[in-house]
Amino acid sequence: MRIGILGGGQLARMMAAAGQRLDLECTVLDPAADACAGSLAAHIVADYDDRTALDALASQVDIATFDFENVPVSAARHLERHCPFYPPVPALAAGQDRLVEKRLLRELGIHTPDFHPVGSRTELLAAVEQTGYPAVLKTRRMGYDGKGQVLLGQPEDLERAWQRLGDYSLILESFVPFDAECSIIAVRDGGADVRYWPLSRNLHRSGVLAISRSPYFSDDLQRRAESLIAKLLDRLDYIGTLTLELFLCRGELLANEIAPRVHNSGHWTIEGSSCSQFENHLRAIAGLPLGDTAATEHCMMLNWIGSMPVAEQCMEGSGIHWHDYGKSARPGRKLGHTTIAAPSAVVLRERFQSVAELLDPEVRVAAENTFAEKTFSETVG
Ligand code: AMP
Repeated sequence: MRIGILGGGQLARMMAAAGQRLDLECTVLDPAADACAGSLAAHIVADYDDRTALDALASQVDIATFDFENVPVSAARHLERHCPFYPPVPALAAGQDRLVEKRLLRELGIHTPDFHPVGSRTELLAAVEQTGYPAVLKTRRMGYDGKGQVLLGQPEDLERAWQRLGDYSLILESFVPFDAECSIIAVRDGGADVRYWPLSRNLHRSGVLAISRSPYFSDDLQRRAESLIAKLLDRLDYIGTLTLELFLCRGELLANEIAPRVHNSGHWTIEGSSCSQFENHLRAIAGLPLGDTAATEHCMMLNWIGSMPVAEQCMEGSGIHWHDYGKSARPGRKLGHTTIAAPSAVVLRERFQSVAELLDPEVRVAAENTFAEKTFSETVG
């Protein structure tokens, strides 16, 4: 069976790698000639709205999917006319617009930070009256990894924020003084069978994911997060892997955003669970039985952003798994990751020491704190 993927980044690359074991061959469509999935999958180099290229993709594959949520909905709709397209297009559309997404979450009874649409300067002033300071002004579309957002700490920040983002459709959110960030990742197949991976504890730096650790949280929090994402899976009649990013704030879970796809915070599932998010995504869309999502190891995933350590420094020792996406280095670019896997949290901490010195000092301290602090499995639930 052949799978078409809109987008040829590292997520498509990891899907293609998972597909090889199942004899599912992938073809990606991506405008970048050096898209990193191209070394593991056939690659059509074309813009996402190139109808001829989309037709060529459709003629070569049995099923289509995507690896990032900013591919045009029109391209998805076009493909859908020729072959099954999963996750469903409404899920893609919801993941593209923070306002539509937050309204959907609220409609389903999932709590979110307070939010207000902002289409003008007057609306911004009215919105900030409601939220107070601090607040976060974000573009409704095309924002990811902290791009297209400005923190408003005080009234003086308004002008600068408006200068930067005033040309876009915006949303203002109240700032959440969270205790931790986490994500729940689930997979659902066409027969409505659903599996959940253990929650990941996520640490961001400048809006970009730096570290994920899993398992980490209590069973009670896990069940609560599962019940939230289950509502989305049902409402969207979802097929494939879905991620819900959450803030944990004074024991309450607030939804930050939906990613209708495999997710960076689930990279640990490659080594740390029986069936990875990538393999299960392919299984779900290809109509194959879902694999077991239980954690088999304690994992910490470290993102390499902007530059990579020397590979040899990061490949020694048990349980240290090196992933190089084969991309050229550029500031802010995700180039690879390391997953440290261990049979217990205690051993994970020991193994972490062997790569700790390669990390940016701030990230290193944050990672160490996840071991030092009373874990949320003790404090929550
Ligand atoms: P996003 O692109 O919306 O996922 O935001 C990236 C990161 O910025 C999040 O993972 C948080 O660390 C931070 N962030 C975004 N929105 C908020 C908010 N309303 N309150 C506090 N932190 C936020």
